[in-house]
Amino acid sequence: MTRLPAVFVSHGSPLLALGAGATGAAWRELAAALPRPRAVVVASAHWLSSAPAVGTAEQPQTIHDFGGFPEPLFRIRYPAPGAPAVARRVAGLLAEAGFGVQGVERGLDHGVWVPLREFYPQADIPVVPLALQPRLGPAHHYRLGQALAALRDEGVLLLGSGSLTHNLHEVRWEETGEVAPYVAEFQQWFEQRLRVGDMEALLDYRRRAPQAARAHPTEEHLLPLFVALGAAGEGARAERRFGGVTHEVLAMDVYQFTEPADVAAV
Ligand code: ZN
Repeated sequence: MTRLPAVFVSHGSPLLALGAGATGAAWRELAAALPRPRAVVVASAHWLSSAPAVGTAEQPQTIHDFGGFPEPLFRIRYPAPGAPAVARRVAGLLAEAGFGVQGVERGLDHGVWVPLREFYPQADIPVVPLALQPRLGPAHHYRLGQALAALRDEGVLLLGSGSLTHNLHEVRWEETGEVAPYVAEFQQWFEQRLRVGDMEALLDYRRRAPQAARAHPTEEHLLPLFVALGAAGEGARAERRFGGVTHEVLAMDVYQFTEPADVAAV
């Protein structure tokens, strides 16, 4: 079976589900370039818990976990099946790595279904949600990803869904096409550190990246990136598949993480 990469997407605002534009095109193109997975495990910024948890539902509900958006958004369903066997495998791998993990009958929040509607519009690939622990920081989430790396050899796509920057206090709902300079600076710092695989700096981004606390007043939207990075393993190659900024401050970066380039190919 072909080994799958691990992927991080910035899922943007829920409004993307009503018109995904260039972001949706990039997501579809990426999904089309990947081997077809037998299941997707999604670490979403919108499922937060105090300890690791995995979704075990056979038919996960679509959760509309937002308010104040147009009515059609609340009618969207993403009827992908769950994958209890994959959820058990996730729990087993996490337990082996020393994590206590709970199985929960959890539905799919918009961090899961907004991108997956573009990745797999037929909703025919089973989905297993994975919770984040916002108080435990990047290193914990990197280790969670490491613990799940074996899934990539078992036909499972590991997807982190968050946002490369996420300061909702500064969001401008009307699209101006402008980009807040600090957002661009933060994106560049991350791209450079990811390109050279500087894990020490990345795990310590909160102190080292420019304006990290402004880019992430709380860090739950960046933590899925660390899960994906951990799942890709040491020395992983980071490929930025999409960038841009919506609403002036929401960076839309998409990264694909794969094995280091084969030495023989150099
Ligand atoms: Zn979000």
